[in-house]
Amino acid sequence: MPGEPQADCLFCKIVAGEVPATVVRETGTTVAFRDINPQAPTHVLVIPKVHYPDAASLAAAEPQVAADILAEAAKVAEHDQVDATGYRIVFNTGAGAGQTVFHTHAHVLGGRGLQWPPG
Ligand code: 5GP
Ligand code: ZN
Repeated sequence: MPGEPQADCLFCKIVAGEVPATVVRETGTTVAFRDINPQAPTHVLVIPKVHYPDAASLAAAEPQVAADILAEAAKVAEHDQVDATGYRIVFNTGAGAGQTVFHTHAHVLGGRGLQWPPG
């Protein structure tokens, strides 16, 4: 079934509590946790509890959950007090764009100056 947990998915295991993570916030539909290899002082991943491989497939199947991720990204920025200075929300989509974990996730990056355009 679309959205069901995948046995070989690292982020499904984090949702299930089978892999530990430093959780910042949790809602009925999302989990936000700190990236294991942070690229900025604030580097938090916001993921849906349902499994879809990328943002496009999540938005097509469950648009309300996709909206929940954006709302949670803003809450994370407030939590880490980077909302005033600015932050970036990134969905790497496809291996060619650097996606390595194929369970939808928003990177929330802040706490330092951010280059534009990104690399
Ligand atoms: P992607 O490259 O797919 O856009 O992002 C995947 C992110 O997941 C990377 O930034 C990577 O550091 C992070 N990551 C990979 N494995 C783990 C893990 O076991 N725990 C946490 N917290 N982050 C992870
Ligand atoms: Zn998954």
